[in-house]
Amino acid sequence: MTELNAAMVERYRSNFLKEVEANVEEGEWVKMCMQCGVCAGSCPLGNAWEHTPQKIFMMVRAGEREAVLNSDAMWMCTSCYNCIARCPRGLPITHIMHGLAHYAKRMGLAPKEQPTAKFAQLFWDNLVKKGRVNELKLGISLYFMNGFSEGIKTSLKMKDIGLGMLKTKRMSPMEMLGGHGVKDSAGFQKMLKKAQELEDKRISGSTD
Ligand code: SF4
Ligand code: SF4
Repeated sequence: MTELNAAMVERYRSNFLKEVEANVEEGEWVKMCMQCGVCAGSCPLGNAWEHTPQKIFMMVRAGEREAVLNSDAMWMCTSCYNCIARCPRGLPITHIMHGLAHYAKRMGLAPKEQPTAKFAQLFWDNLVKKGRVNELKLGISLYFMNGFSEGIKTSLKMKDIGLGMLKTKRMSPMEMLGGHGVKDSAGFQKMLKKAQELEDKRISGSTD
């Protein structure tokens, strides 16, 4: 268990709803859910998930902290906004789902092998290096994220698209040597550091 997660467990004891309300984006809306099931019925992918948004909100209220934060359901949300458009209580369901995924990640409880979670980490690692996404490196790391042989197979499968992009100058192999970045790289890193400090302060404030 990470130090932060242990502090949150200690802080909120068995009141997971309160923890969500205080720390998850739009989490204060969860208590407004009346369990009508409209979101579950409207979600185009809900049937393929372990838990629909309706069930996730019920689990939050029932204090099923580990089951919620370990779930891959929040990572499957495609932000289609069907649920938000139809919820009779006006819950910002999409934002809560992403907020829960983000919170699970911060607590070190997000499912390690979930593809969206893995890709989100790759995207972030790529972006923070220079302040701009290096698409070539990101594409390659995506192909190889499930191992070397899987990466080779995917690369071969995608080779025609890659060659087409090279031909039409939509991709440059020179990006492998470094690639573009923002002009003020030091300022960008300073901004990230400040944001991290503010976030740490906010979290430690909520664990006092
Ligand atoms: S549609 Fe809204 S009120 Fe109904 S179950 Fe979903 S979140 Fe709750
Ligand atoms: S926004 Fe996410 S949770 Fe809502 S209906 Fe679309 S995929 Fe489902």
